[in-house]
Amino acid sequence: MVSDALTRMLILQDRDMKLQQVEADLVSIPKERRACEARIATLQAEIEASRQRIKELETKGRSIETEMASVEEQVVKYKNQQILVKKNEEYQALTHEIAAASEKISELESSELEVLYELDEARKVQKVAEEEIAARIERERADLGKLDEREQRVSGELAGAKEAFAKAEAALDKPTLSKYRQVARGLKFPVIVALSDQKCSGCHMRVSNAIDSEVRAASEITTCDNCGRILYSEA
Ligand SMILES: [Zn+2]
Repeated sequence: MVSDALTRMLILQDRDMKLQQVEADLVSIPKERRACEARIATLQAEIEASRQRIKELETKGRSIETEMASVEEQVVKYKNQQILVKKNEEYQALTHEIAAASEKISELESSELEVLYELDEARKVQKVAEEEIAARIERERADLGKLDEREQRVSGELAGAKEAFAKAEAALDKPTLSKYRQVARGLKFPVIVALSDQKCSGCHMRVSNAIDSEVRAASEITTCDNCGRILYSEA
């Protein structure tokens, strides 16, 4: 049996839970949004880093080519000089320079090949990674959209929830209301629970016989001797 006062308390509990849920949502939604935005920023930074890596390789490749062109130019100069020199030592010195330059060119060629290979690999990896990251960003953006919708909906519910809560509070007499507040302050919802088979359905502990009969009588507000929740009889 549930007394009138208990019925009103149960209604208050329901409105209280609803209001707290709305308020908790209004606190958590902006946090969820920031977390979502941070994840998007991280993903974008990942894309940027991999693009940067490719740019660096491209720059490296270009600088190798530039260096190679200048060494090749040098070789042409040496060869032209060789035609003009008279002394054998000078001719030999230039031959030596040309050999050194040719060596340098082949070194540069192999560096360039390495860079081109790396670039090729990096581009392949980047293509796959960018597609995957873009899909993840899209999912995060969709979540952001849902958060916006949820926030709008919940904001719209706040005034109504406050009003319903105030109404439910007003329906209780002072002692009952202060009892409810006292119990609700320190406990997790639900704070008004059924007693079935002499067990509190809040903490699942067995209550004393005295409490059991008090709850059955339903003439006053009785709390669980273990957890302190307000009890009502389901029978
Ligand atoms: Zn209990």
